[in-house]
Amino acid sequence: MKQLIIIGGGFAGAYIARKLESEFAVTLFDTKDYFEFTPSVLRTLVEPKHLQRIEVPHQAYLHTAMIIRKPVTEVTDNEVIGGGKEYLFDYLVIASGSRYTVPIKEENIVIAARGRELQQWAHQLEKAKNVLIVGGGIVGTELAAEIVERFPEKEITLIHSKKDLLERNPRKAQKYARRFLQRRGVKIIFEERVVDTAAKKYATNKGREIFADLAFLCTGIAPNSQFLKKNGKITLAEDSFVQVNAHLQVTNCPNIFAAGDITNIKEEKTAQAAEKQAEVVIDNLRALAEGRKLREYVSKARPMVISLGKWNGILVYHHFVWTGILPGLIKQLIEWKTMRKQKSMDFGIYQKN
Ligand SMILES: Cc1cc2nc3c(=O)[nH]c(=O)nc-3n(C[C@H](O)[C@H](O)[C@H](O)COP(=O)(O)OP(=O)(O)OC[C@H]3O[C@@H](n4cnc5c(N)ncnc54)[C@H](O)[C@@H]3O)c2cc1C
Repeated sequence: MKQLIIIGGGFAGAYIARKLESEFAVTLFDTKDYFEFTPSVLRTLVEPKHLQRIEVPHQAYLHTAMIIRKPVTEVTDNEVIGGGKEYLFDYLVIASGSRYTVPIKEENIVIAARGRELQQWAHQLEKAKNVLIVGGGIVGTELAAEIVERFPEKEITLIHSKKDLLERNPRKAQKYARRFLQRRGVKIIFEERVVDTAAKKYATNKGREIFADLAFLCTGIAPNSQFLKKNGKITLAEDSFVQVNAHLQVTNCPNIFAAGDITNIKEEKTAQAAEKQAEVVIDNLRALAEGRKLREYVSKARPMVISLGKWNGILVYHHFVWTGILPGLIKQLIEWKTMRKQKSMDFGIYQKN
């Protein structure tokens, strides 16, 4: 069997590993020993028990793949270096995704420690009187909604550098999210940035001081591509995302693919997109091994659900916006589907098969 190394066990990497472990000699490198359903992590901060529903150890759904819980530190033309050892590959998939601030995403951690960490954060949140959320994109908005729904008595401030929340979404969605939060007492400050912090004091660029017992930074993702910088052949875009061609092959490296948040494809970085890209990589790895023609990845807008607590939400598709309880329930349905598939050790949350 050809040696296939996959770097990263998130939506893209876990899906590829599971689908191809019987056709290739698969080695999965991940800094964590489990897959986590990131879209539900925010709920675990107000409902820690939810965590057991959204995590699966890699060994529970992989049967023959070798799993190595070590960060990859370097990639050469035909080798991956992890934990000080070299591993030869015929094909490589870079699915190292993106990082976010703790506790929203975590690296280098085992499943039990992740549980303890999120419980500690949930406990701190329960004790906090004042909470500050920095950033009003999807993550900041969803987090503010989770907190205000569970703890309506807390003083919650959301500060956002833009003119409105969810700036990449239609006006109707922005307005709905803003009103949802403001009606529940969340104080929203627009067009201001936190520039300094000391103890529990946060200073903004307009001279305002905000006191908060607890603050969450929700200011966006950064690609996990540091380990690729030593490789002269793999091209990183200016923003450090990995450059790929239409077949999701890394530029100049026909036997190396990339999928998920790590690619430089200009589209909303979502779990859905990561799985769609993973599907194309799976087909193309098979095609390459059999000498067939490769498939192209077509980037397109997909329906997206933004949750506002458990029972409310916004569904956005192109310029169509649907708000209220049903979008909220759809998000729960996605979660439920995930749980069901996790129990049967199946994967591909957004896929039919
Ligand atoms: C709070 C939040 C809510 C979200 N909600 C939604 C939603 O509702 N719907 C939706 O579609 N998307 C949502 N997303 C986006 C979605 O989670 C990401 O697009 C998705 O996780 C990307 O998957 P991935 O496989 O590319 O990377 P990741 O999920 O980032 O996984 C990458 C993996 O690679 C590992 N890794 C990194 N570097 C190395 C290394 N050097 N060596 C070995 N392993 C490494 C990481 O530890 C990680 O396990 C949300 C994201 C966040 C943060």
